[in-house]
Amino acid sequence: METHDLPIVLIDDGVRAQAQTLVKVEFAEFGITIDVGIKAEIELVCSRCIETFVKNVDYDHNIVISLADNSWEIDDETLAMGIISVADNTIDIQELVRQLLVENQEMRPLCSEECQGLCPVCGINLNSENCECDDNYKDPRWSKLRNIKIK
Ligand SMILES: [Zn+2]
Ligand SMILES: [Zn+2]
Repeated sequence: METHDLPIVLIDDGVRAQAQTLVKVEFAEFGITIDVGIKAEIELVCSRCIETFVKNVDYDHNIVISLADNSWEIDDETLAMGIISVADNTIDIQELVRQLLVENQEMRPLCSEECQGLCPVCGINLNSENCECDDNYKDPRWSKLRNIKIK
């Protein structure tokens, strides 16, 4: 078991992560198995209040790489190639971790389930401030409909 502290990796679109990985590599007749345990701090932007927050993630992943017909085969097809360099017999763990973090990324990250988001009228962050805006703010797109009388 080897512990690696990775430098900050850019996942994509400005999402940054600092990961610590535990990597166990075993060589077998058919190829290589890699157990990766990732503990990462990912810097995300909340989809409601657009504040930056840090999320801790912790997961394990197991990859089997087999050597068949003199070419490498990775069982996990969602992992793109580029991790293994046959030419110099190296496995790029940092790239592997980056891809796993990308794969497990949330589409709509939230700083907390209770996040109040931004006021739709004045735009302040309702988690830290209050405003005097009308709670019953009505979307102007519906104003015509609101005048419809139902008999
Ligand atoms: Zn939020
Ligand atoms: Zn407001």
